[in-house]
Amino acid sequence: MRSPNFKIEPKADALKYSLRYQAVLKASENHQIAERLQECRIDREKCDLSCCPLCTRKHRIWRTEEFLEIARAGPHPQWVLTLLFDAVAPGNLHTVEPKKLQHRLRKRLDTAGLSESLVAGGLEVSWHGNQRGWSVHFHVLTLGAEEEHLRVLKAGFASSDLKRPFLRQKLKDPVEQISYLLKFHTYHHPFAQIGQEKGPAYPLPRPQMEELLNWYANFKPSDFLFLYGLRRRGDRICPTPKRRSAER
Ligand SMILES: [Zn+2]
Repeated sequence: MRSPNFKIEPKADALKYSLRYQAVLKASENHQIAERLQECRIDREKCDLSCCPLCTRKHRIWRTEEFLEIARAGPHPQWVLTLLFDAVAPGNLHTVEPKKLQHRLRKRLDTAGLSESLVAGGLEVSWHGNQRGWSVHFHVLTLGAEEEHLRVLKAGFASSDLKRPFLRQKLKDPVEQISYLLKFHTYHHPFAQIGQEKGPAYPLPRPQMEELLNWYANFKPSDFLFLYGLRRRGDRICPTPKRRSAER
């Protein structure tokens, strides 16, 4: 039995969302992707697309379990950071490239001196209707990062014209915070500011729903995974050998 703090929806919900997304994709003339979602929904062929609620759910469960394991074994202190990278105007989501953003984050971590720490998380895109745009940000878990280096990392965001570009929280409830790290949103909180207490969630307005699903369709869930000082080995996520020897 999973902890009630495990913030991942039941499979029945994902099956329902899949039908809803197929309808949206069909309405925007993306019949091929809608068809792949349906094949995946009836278990005929796994689609591995990030617009598929079943595939993203599976990926999030896997990733949450791996991250929890890393946090259990990993060095302290442990923080969860939210790093706002870009605000993107409606209609321009196609300019967002997960690989490039991950490269930018990696460089920032290098520059801040975090190369001896472990960082795991993901890229996320969410709609902020009150600011008329998409927020492109990372949620990451940092393990063993020194205070001084985190301060340098934060200072790197000081010139950002985005509201509250750097947020950090201590990892207190690993199950809740880590399962919340990786979301593939199709809802928004119209009455909330970024980083403040969230209001109720509503489905995205139709044009944004279409834009988001068509953009997600270009990527696999794993394209949103961010690892630093860590790497995938088959189904496991492990520290890279360099870090492992540094721990000894
Ligand atoms: Zn799928």
